[in-house]
Amino acid sequence: MRGTAHFTSAMILPKATRLAPEQLTEVTGIVTEFGCKIQPIVGAMRTIYAIVGDEREELMINRLEGLDYIDRIDRIQSPFKLMDKRSDLASHRITIGGVTLGEELFVIAGACTIDPKNPNYFYETAAAVKESGANALRGGVWKPRTNPYSFQGDVKSLDILMEASRRTGLPVDTEVMEEAHISLALDAGVHTLQIGARNALNYSLLRAVGKAIAERDNVVLLKRSIHMGPLSEFISAAEYIAAFGNPNVMLCPRGTTPTLDGYRNHPDESITPLLKEKTWAPVVVDPSHSVGKATYVPAAALAAVAYGADGLCLEAHVEPTKGIGDDPKQALTPEVLRKTIAQARQLWAIRQG
Ligand code: PEP
Ligand code: MN
Repeated sequence: MRGTAHFTSAMILPKATRLAPEQLTEVTGIVTEFGCKIQPIVGAMRTIYAIVGDEREELMINRLEGLDYIDRIDRIQSPFKLMDKRSDLASHRITIGGVTLGEELFVIAGACTIDPKNPNYFYETAAAVKESGANALRGGVWKPRTNPYSFQGDVKSLDILMEASRRTGLPVDTEVMEEAHISLALDAGVHTLQIGARNALNYSLLRAVGKAIAERDNVVLLKRSIHMGPLSEFISAAEYIAAFGNPNVMLCPRGTTPTLDGYRNHPDESITPLLKEKTWAPVVVDPSHSVGKATYVPAAALAAVAYGADGLCLEAHVEPTKGIGDDPKQALTPEVLRKTIAQARQLWAIRQG
């Protein structure tokens, strides 16, 4: 059944944390009579079962509701049924590198782009990221570049990323831009797959990522597209991934099309409380791409935490001027990274009080 997800607006909630195999067989038998299928969605607390197909058949719903091991059939009208704050998955928690999002500020930091010719910069950056108290390491292997003649990334950097992960013990995040990258990254041991701003509306890629992580504990960091308007468009993109069975999707505002002359993008950390009214998904803000200049990043990072962000994604480099990609302009030095994370954690603590 995995890999066949379609949107649905009905979820079967069992009384227990999951259906026993014979119960799943019975439920599947009923929905099959009505031309539907079952897609399990594995939450941290319990598994719920999406009815895939035309779930409006009252007779089917009545028969399912009549089963003594079924708690209820959830029919919330929402374009993002799984990611909706009213979904049963609202109690789902995402854990990365021992940190459960929502319980403490989650920080991913590292280079925009790994330089395969100078791996030591990345190893030293990784050590500084670890030392700064970040929870995960980022490093770009494949890069979406505005200019086709700019460095596009190199698969060799995947080995460098994983070596840095081994040296630091940190889980790693990297962007996948096409289907072929997904299995390469997962097979290498990448924990968090990043969908970039340019691909956040690429529904075939979102589906491919959803399928690939369906039976794994991997997480997706979904950037907000530069072109996304309504928040429902952003949350629905996450729903594309979750609909295949793994709801581990973090939403990452990273600035939209510039309407300011000064910042690289229009900073959008202020959408955090609005997202939180609609979805349970953790919000991990990327101030680096938002403002696009290292000197502006610490203030934008703190603003994101003030607005209620669950985490931050920060570009950092041991020697930014020697970096490639975005690093010369927007990477934080180890010293600024350390200070920014420490202040962000203080602000987080104030927010809890
Ligand atoms: C990045 O994280 O380096 C990146 C390219 O991000 P975005 O997709 O937000 O531009
Ligand atoms: Mn970048």
